[in-house]
Amino acid sequence: MHEFAIGEALVSAVLSELAAVQPPPARLTRVRVVVGAMRQVVPEYLEFAYEVLTQETPAAGSALEIRALPITVRCHACHWEGTVELGVFLCGACGAADLAPLTGMELYLDQLEVEHDDPA
Ligand SMILES: [Zn+2]
Repeated sequence: MHEFAIGEALVSAVLSELAAVQPPPARLTRVRVVVGAMRQVVPEYLEFAYEVLTQETPAAGSALEIRALPITVRCHACHWEGTVELGVFLCGACGAADLAPLTGMELYLDQLEVEHDDPA
């Protein structure tokens, strides 16, 4: 279950981003991450890892939203561009295996949603 390793990197990125928000927010409500299909992340596992790893941190209780990106490629032979399934790296037009990956390897923090308490 490599989601815990990804979760640890993610939580440390979230905490350093959160510490840089000015003025300091009252709470973190939602974190959006982008994960390419080639990362083979099981969303439920990553959500669970995130929940466990954020306990006792300023990010505790925030929701993790995972945006999955498909694997898209460009064919060197015929210049076809399209989506392929994990493990099936063949051009959808001519069947060639000589493909350049365009998307699918992403793994990054996209957005933090924070709340500020209204000044009384
Ligand atoms: Zn092709």
